Amino acid sequence: MFVHTVERAAKSRQVRACQRCGHMIQPGERYHYLDHWRTPRSFWCSDHRPRPSDMVTSPNKRRLYLAQEGLIDASTTGIENIIPALHLAVIEASAIANHYAEWVWGSKITSEAHSPWLSA
Ligand SMILES: [Zn+2]
Repeated sequence: MFVHTVERAAKSRQVRACQRCGHMIQPGERYHYLDHWRTPRSFWCSDHRPRPSDMVTSPNKRRLYLAQEGLIDASTTGIENIIPALHLAVIEASAIANHYAEWVWGSKITSEAHSPWLSA
């Protein structure tokens, strides 16, 4: 998926709202959009760009990127925000690891296989 940038928005009947902040993109403004055959065209204002989670169609990859972006966002704020973001990232990563393990191996990751370094 590619990010396209339009330097000056043309007049359009189509409503172009930023996916991040909801800003209505006006004629003459700079904006970005994503175009993919599997998804409707989506827009971002000049202050925002699509993030990795916006650029994947796999729901599992999207969950991983959302968790990662949550960590990045939390790391720019206070420690009290990092704790829940880390907790969520662990839950999401573990759930997706199990999803892939079931797909590849036909079974979930056992706790022994999951953390051999902890039992040493
Ligand atoms: Zn925006």
